[in-house]
Amino acid sequence: MPLIILKQDLEIIKKHIAEIFPYEACGALLGIIDGNDKKITKVFPANNKYRKIAWDAFEIEPKDMLEIDKLSRKNNIEVLGFYHSHPNHPAIPSNTDINASWPYYSYMIVSVKGNNLEDIADIKNYLMPDKINKPLSEEIIIAE
Ligand SMILES: [Zn+2]
Repeated sequence: MPLIILKQDLEIIKKHIAEIFPYEACGALLGIIDGNDKKITKVFPANNKYRKIAWDAFEIEPKDMLEIDKLSRKNNIEVLGFYHSHPNHPAIPSNTDINASWPYYSYMIVSVKGNNLEDIADIKNYLMPDKINKPLSEEIIIAE
């Protein structure tokens, strides 16, 4: 199921990730399932509970999860996935990512090398159907 995201929403994610570098940034992807598409209509840059220089530890702070929950109810949308960054590491799921994953969600991983938008090195999106098989790549379509 391709993930469709507006260019402006992807910009919000890129800015958040570049700003937080060298720390790992994370956030939620909200929207609707429309036929065979996951349409992202709102991105929520969150605070990482693990505020340290780590490329493979992220967890959205509980108060942000509450906000995300409220936002989805108010707008009649749902959490379709999460994004997080891999500072100075490739956009490939770590073992920690796989172990912390849920089958339903899309996981967007952004590789970043510095504090500028040009330092965004790679953006990939995965489904992690279980903890035994390899994550599956899921297409990202950027809409204007
Ligand atoms: Zn990761």
